[in-house]
Parts: sequence; structure tokens; C-alpha cells
Amino acid sequence: MHRMYENEDITIFWDSDKCGHAKKCVGGSPTVFDITKKPWINIDGAPNAEIWQTIGECPSGALSCVYNHGIRIEFDEEGGRSVAFDGEKQVGECDCRIEGDNWTIVHTEVDPEYSGKGIAKRLVFKLTEEAERRKKNVIPVCSYAVKVLS
Ligand code: SF4
Repeated sequence: MHRMYENEDITIFWDSDKCGHAKKCVGGSPTVFDITKKPWINIDGAPNAEIWQTIGECPSGALSCVYNHGIRIEFDEEGGRSVAFDGEKQVGECDCRIEGDNWTIVHTEVDPEYSGKGIAKRLVFKLTEEAERRKKNVIPVCSYAVKVLS
């Protein structure tokens, strides 16, 4: 399962398949990471700096984090894609082919001017999260999506 938690400044990624349950996160920021709650991550539960430090101590790599750099990620259900915007300007997208219960991620692209900001990862996670919430199968074919989801 892949989940994204966003506030205005940062995005947290969580990949349950990698989570080894060492619970370093719970000990480091108990007001953010609480496995008795749903959702179990409250991104507004502590200052971003504390969250960032706690995520850095996750031993499995299940948690990661990026700054948003003012970029907004939206899900376009009709278009079968997630889209990144800087204001009104589209700066990236991740596309999937929907066939029955299978969502095949075929392409991820970010404007080179915006590379290195974690946008592609946010795009892939957004699409994957939306598919998983609908109980669809995610099949990454695009090489970037394969890397992010493996
Ligand atoms: S520290 Fe990482 S591996 Fe451990 S419970 Fe938290 S997310 Fe999972």
C-alpha cells in the first residue's frame, strides 16, 4: 500500500510493503505517527523539521519526505492521470492506461526546469494511491514508476 500525506510545505510518502515495524517513527514523533489511529500519520502533528528528522531515522526506507516547492499535485480521474501544477502552469504528469481493474502506469514526465524537486515521485504516489483506494491493480511499466514502486 502506498500513501501520501501532504501539508502546505512537505509531502510524506509511506510504502507499507517496506515497513518493518521497528516503530522508530512512533517513538520519534508520537503526535504524528500513531498506529492506533486512522489515518496513522497526522502530518500536522509536529513541526516539519521534527517530522523530517524522524523520517530520516526510519530503518526500512518505508517513509520518505520531500519539500513541495509550491507545486500542487492533482488527480484527473477522467484523464487517468495525476498532474503537477505551478500556479496555473502544468509542469508534470503521470499517465496510466485503465483496463478493467488494471491501472498500468505508462508514462511519467516532469518539465526539466522543475527536476530534482520530488515531483515525479509525488505524481506516481498520487496515481497509485488513488488506484489502491479503488481496489485496482497498479502495474508500473514506465521505468520511473517501476523504480519508485519497487
Ligand atoms: S520507522 Fe519506518 S519501518 Fe519502522 S514503523 Fe515507522 S515507517 Fe515502519
